[in-house]
Amino acid sequence: MALNTFDRSKARMSAAAQVLAGGVSSNFRLNISPTPLVIDNGFGPYLVDVDGNRLIDYYLGMGPMILGHAPKSVIAAARAQLDRGIIFASQTEAEFEAARLVCELVPCAERVRFGSSGTEVIQAALRLARAATGKPTIVKFEGHYHGWLDNVHWSVAPSAEACGPLERPNKVPGTPGQDPRCGDNVAVLGWNDLAAVERRLAQGDVAAIIMEPAMCNTSAIAPNPGYLEGVRAACSKAGAILIFDEVITGFRLSAGGAQGLFGVTPDLATFGKAIANGFPVAALAGRADLMDMFSSRGVMHGGTYNAHPVNMAATVATLRTLAEGETYALIEKRGRLLMSGIQATLQHHGIAARIQGFPGIFHVAFGITEPIRSFRDTFPIDRARYIKFTTALVERGVRALERGAWFLSSEHDESVISATLDAVAGAAKAVA
Ligand code: PLP
Repeated sequence: MALNTFDRSKARMSAAAQVLAGGVSSNFRLNISPTPLVIDNGFGPYLVDVDGNRLIDYYLGMGPMILGHAPKSVIAAARAQLDRGIIFASQTEAEFEAARLVCELVPCAERVRFGSSGTEVIQAALRLARAATGKPTIVKFEGHYHGWLDNVHWSVAPSAEACGPLERPNKVPGTPGQDPRCGDNVAVLGWNDLAAVERRLAQGDVAAIIMEPAMCNTSAIAPNPGYLEGVRAACSKAGAILIFDEVITGFRLSAGGAQGLFGVTPDLATFGKAIANGFPVAALAGRADLMDMFSSRGVMHGGTYNAHPVNMAATVATLRTLAEGETYALIEKRGRLLMSGIQATLQHHGIAARIQGFPGIFHVAFGITEPIRSFRDTFPIDRARYIKFTTALVERGVRALERGAWFLSSEHDESVISATLDAVAGAAKAVA
């Protein structure tokens, strides 16, 4: 079988770097082996790149495309809205219906506000928490990502040398140019450790605890039994606001997100990605008394593009499909098939690996077999070998993230899974 080549993507990327910084518009798209791809089009589970390679896609836009690429119902809804105008700086019926659907599906959602990116609605959540409690400190966890802004980009992927003792983790800045003072009111803890949360809350200065309720930016780690319940109870007792960042888990782990799956309801939750199947929509949802502070107490939240009518039409079409529930049943079955198929294939080729997570987003780690329960468990992962594996995969027609995450859509049917496992076998042989 001839392997895919990417000569045109490589040439276009190096030419683009003369006008577009690094050839990309997000740092997450840099430094991908054998090259960041230039895509011509996508449909169902596939992408077609400018070299003409058809690739089974497990990036899914880094998570949003839960219904696959270019689903007819979502495209039709967006197209119909486009014919009626672009933005109005007013409300629309689609916006009201999208809010109603979020409130129907998400346990914590008594009210909703829409935004355009996960990063920005997280800022709105933190502001509400400080306004409600009058306290300064936000607690976040090692390995959790809450957007790229200065006040949350701490200890997202700290090195083993930098992260300090587990009982008192260092607050490690994530980027050159970050204002160190923006970390003054941030505390970093290890995740999945209830005692650490209780100890920190006892200091009495915590406005909010923000977490990915399942840690999908590191190794698709589930919460330990009782952990979310314990943090919920501790926040209620201390008067701190519990924020679930469901930008990945929302509308992906279930129609009610991680809070629906695990049965623990936060005070506020942030959404993005799968909420609109790839249209730039984010949402902050939560308790009415908190959310109504935007209007009753003038807590500032703005945005020219918030609740953009085209995006709202796409949100309604996406959420109506997800509300039917069939998407999750399909993903559950096929995701499990894929996880066990990859595990068996790697084992057959003598590659030690740990596969864990959820059918709609799981993680493959090379070089370890023990469960990964928190960020520091990921240090021994053999990342260099895994990148050789994803490079061999894309040469065989499967595009998977180098950091180990695999996203599934309802369009990845059994034949797609079977073709994927053939490519996994070829790639495993290549790197064994
Ligand atoms: N929160 C989590 C858990 C995420 O995974 C991301 C993005 O990947 C964000 C927040 C930021 O969202 P956005 O990229 O839409 O700003």
